[in-house]
Formats: sequence, structure tokens, C-alpha cells
Amino acid sequence: MTDRLALDDFRPRPKLVVPQAGITAPFRKVIDAHNHLGSFGGGWDKRTPVAFFDHLATTQVVHYIDLDGGWGEDILDDRLRRFKEYAPDRYRVFGGVNWGLWAEEGHGFAEASARRFRAQVARGAEGLKIWKPFGLHVTDDTGALARIDDPRLDPIWASAGDLGLPVLIHIADPVAFFDPLTPENERWDELHAHPDWQFPSPPFPSFSDLIEAFGNLVRRHRGTTFIGAHVACYSENLGWVSSLMDECPNLLVDFSARVAELGRQPYSARKFFLRYADRILFGTDAGPDKATYGTYARFLESEDEYFPYSGAPIPGQGRWNIYGLNLPRDVLDKIYFDNAARLFGIPAALGA
Ligand SMILES: [Zn+2]
Repeated sequence: MTDRLALDDFRPRPKLVVPQAGITAPFRKVIDAHNHLGSFGGGWDKRTPVAFFDHLATTQVVHYIDLDGGWGEDILDDRLRRFKEYAPDRYRVFGGVNWGLWAEEGHGFAEASARRFRAQVARGAEGLKIWKPFGLHVTDDTGALARIDDPRLDPIWASAGDLGLPVLIHIADPVAFFDPLTPENERWDELHAHPDWQFPSPPFPSFSDLIEAFGNLVRRHRGTTFIGAHVACYSENLGWVSSLMDECPNLLVDFSARVAELGRQPYSARKFFLRYADRILFGTDAGPDKATYGTYARFLESEDEYFPYSGAPIPGQGRWNIYGLNLPRDVLDKIYFDNAARLFGIPAALGA
């Protein structure tokens, strides 16, 4: 018995005695609109389509949206040839932008990227995924950091609008990743474990610069549908997200990988989900993981109090527990299935 306790050794177990709904899976069929098959999705791309879809059949997910295609033409073609061909009605994959070509293509880069995206779509891609290096690492033809709202890139966003396909975009990261790693940092454990996830400014732009530039992008391209990944990348501030959604009907959000954030602000989150019930997409960003689907379902459907959002002994996204939103059935139907079905033209029968 010592009188000092190391943070790593602190594992408090809540002594609350409260009702639990016992929810371990979504109550209905679901579209997972933000996920991966590669390393971010559990490495299912290394296995056969049969193995993947057999596993998926043991979950409530009837359609899986894989955002990995933009990592390279070979990945896109491999996923189309194997996974899409095996189960065309249960799987789709997004294309992407090869930022590495900006240096050599110079002024023609955006038009060429738009052309490449159209070619990806002709082969079978069904959306455009923008990964978070855009704004943090991507450089233009002069070697300068590219701005998210750089007008030179407009042809890319316009091409998605012309094709009627959404742009799913992740910019920045949790706000605390931009703060110094001091004892006040609420993501201390996570940043201590992953020092490369810190984005101190300078050299990186500040979080507010990035998120304001994202707002400008969505505002300027009203004819393009944007899906703001991870609650438009600002789940810590639903007021900010709401303002942008009110201003821009072309903005939808997914809440993948943000149940920890939303579940610690259950009153604000519930209001947000009710108000934007037609514009929120379900997705986990964690592979086709049954335990994760169960946690998301418990968060959306139950009024359970103060439960863990993760199975890890020290929860990765912060040392707190979350609360269920107890959303009404009609709202759950929209978030689990109807919104994504409408956006992507997925038949309602698949969700029955
Ligand atoms: Zn993702």
C-alpha cells in the first residue's frame, strides 16, 4: 500500500447499480457507411470475400461501405474484382485523390484528378474519400502545405457533384491532438501511446484554421454532397457542427469513431440526433466488429448510464464512460438504414 498511484495503474470500477437494457446488436438491419477492409478495417482484404461476407452475415450489417479505394488504383481494382463482384448489393468502395501527383502535374493537377475520379467511377467506385493528410501533410506543386479550401482544387469537388456522388471527408483530428501533451490534455493516454498523432501548431495549422477551411469548402460547393466524417470532424462542438449543417443542406455527417465523444454529452448529442435525423449516417470505422456494433447499438438505443465505450482496460479516447441516447424507433430507422439507402440508392428491401 503506497500513498501514490501511477496513472497507468488506476482502473476504477463503477459501483453504480442502474438498469441495463442488455443491447448487444442493432435491433434492425444496418448500412455501415464508414468502414474499411484494409489495415483500418481489421485486414479483411487479406481474406476471401466468402470469409468476409459470411462474417458480415452474422452481424446486422447488410451493406458495407469500404473507403479504401483511394489508396491506389490497384487496391480499388482488387476490391472491385473480388468483393464488389462477389456481393454487388452488399458492398461498395470509394475512390480517392492521388495527392502525390500534384508536384509533377502542376496547374493541371485538379483537372487531372477529376478525370481520374471519373475513370474510377466508370470502373465501379461509388464515392470520393478524402483522408486526413489533406490539410495536415498534403503539399501543392510548390511544396507549400495545401489549404482545404484552396480554389485551385475546385474541379475535384465539382466532379463529384456532377456525378451525383458524395465526398466523404476527414480533416484534422480530435481537438486535443492539437494541444501540447501536458497533464491537462484529456487524450494524454492516447497521445502518449501514439506520439505521431500530435499536431502541434506550428508546424501544423491550428485546429480552428482547419475546421474553418472545411466550412468554407462545404459552403462553396453547394452542388456537391459532403459527408463530414466523425461528426464533421468536430464532435467536441456540436453547436459548431449544427451551424454549418443549418447553413449547408449539402452537408451530412457520420459518427464513426466518435461514440466516446457523443456519449459523454448525452443531452447535446440526443438533441443533435433528433434535429438532424435525416442527415446522420451510421458507421463505425472499426472493421466489421461485432462488439463495436453492439456498443454503437447500446449507445443509440438504450438509456443505459455510464457504460464503457471500449473493451480496453484503459479506454483509448479518454478516461470516461458514456450514456445511451434512447433514440425513438423512427429516428433509429433513418440513422441505421434509410438515410444511407436514400443517398446511395440502396433498395429498401435490403433493410427489411
Ligand atoms: Zn475511416
